Amino acid sequence: MINLLDFDAEGLTAWFAGLGEKPFRARQVLRWMHRGGCDDFGQMTDVAKTLRLRLAQEAQIRGPVPIGDSVATDGTRKWLLDVGQGNAIETVFIPEADRGTLCVSTQVGCALACAFCATGRQGFNRNLSTAEIIGQLWHANRVLTAGEARLAGAADERVVSNVVLMGMGEPLANFEAVVAALRLMLDDNAYGLSRRRVTVSTAGIVPAIDRLRVEAPVALAVSLHAAEDALRDRLVPINRKYPLPELMAACRRYLVEAPRDFITFEYAMLDGVNDGDADARALLALTRDLPSKFNLIPFNPFTGSGFRRSRSERVRRFQQILLDAGVVATVRKTRGDDIDAACGQLAGQVRDKSRRIVLAAQPLQSVEVRA
Ligand code: SAH
Repeated sequence: MINLLDFDAEGLTAWFAGLGEKPFRARQVLRWMHRGGCDDFGQMTDVAKTLRLRLAQEAQIRGPVPIGDSVATDGTRKWLLDVGQGNAIETVFIPEADRGTLCVSTQVGCALACAFCATGRQGFNRNLSTAEIIGQLWHANRVLTAGEARLAGAADERVVSNVVLMGMGEPLANFEAVVAALRLMLDDNAYGLSRRRVTVSTAGIVPAIDRLRVEAPVALAVSLHAAEDALRDRLVPINRKYPLPELMAACRRYLVEAPRDFITFEYAMLDGVNDGDADARALLALTRDLPSKFNLIPFNPFTGSGFRRSRSERVRRFQQILLDAGVVATVRKTRGDDIDAACGQLAGQVRDKSRRIVLAAQPLQSVEVRA
């Protein structure tokens, strides 16, 4: 049966047109679903009763099924959501004084096999649907916002103020479903977030960065992790397909449409691998003509990773080199690591179909030799 969470505004309007219903009906239902967190057509009091009955026959609003819910000592909360056939994904809510950030997954597992990422180690099963992606925000809002405020459409009460597509998976490898979900995040009849508060993080799929710029130019974060192709080829294997000069050029093109006047670069700090003074200087050279902000992520370990987190003096020194050159560089605070909710620790349950885990171990070994 059709799940209405799969539609963005345009898709829902078209589907309603097929029922002979006007666009404003689609808008009403969209508001009930997303602003109200409603999954029961019977509750949609301003929708004509005949239409409500018809909707109940032909469609459903099917959110994700939570099978795990853990809260870290720092208040970070992680849900494990069942997506069928033995697969489950993770969504993380990170509360801070001035905002609440939801970290959303876009795939069951990931095919990119970055050497230092737990999700990458698990292999890949499938793309998430739009309903499964937006369903994570839908679910978090329902759980975190009092029911009455939600149903009254009191959007300002909303606890999730920012969304980052930094959970399991590579968002730009699931382009269509991700863009429809992004449109819902930005839509005033749905979540109404500004483009600056929605961030897509990518390992660097160059053609898709260009498409995103045209179709849904939200804030962009690029997982860099190395300033030279030889090292990046091993840490982030997609670099072999889209090497750094091409990636940097795509970032420059993106800036023209970006909601912020810089690109964020994520950089996991791996002890003895990419954290030397020379690496920091290479980063400065690489991004010299590109307004950038660096987000240094002390590596979050997981069993069998083969990497160690850079020591904090090393991270500080690395950060200082960037700051001294006038580049904004922050160190990402580790959140939720006691419930394995930190960057790179999300694993969910993935029935791997790619069977390329053995291959993924290859670049890792050579990295260890270098370290
Ligand atoms: N595939 C996308 C979305 C994942 S975002 C991307 O690569 O950007 C998750 C971020 O955490 C990425 O920057 C990723 O490189 C980083 N990361 C992965 N494993 C990590 C680990 N073990 N420790 C710290 N950061 C990690």
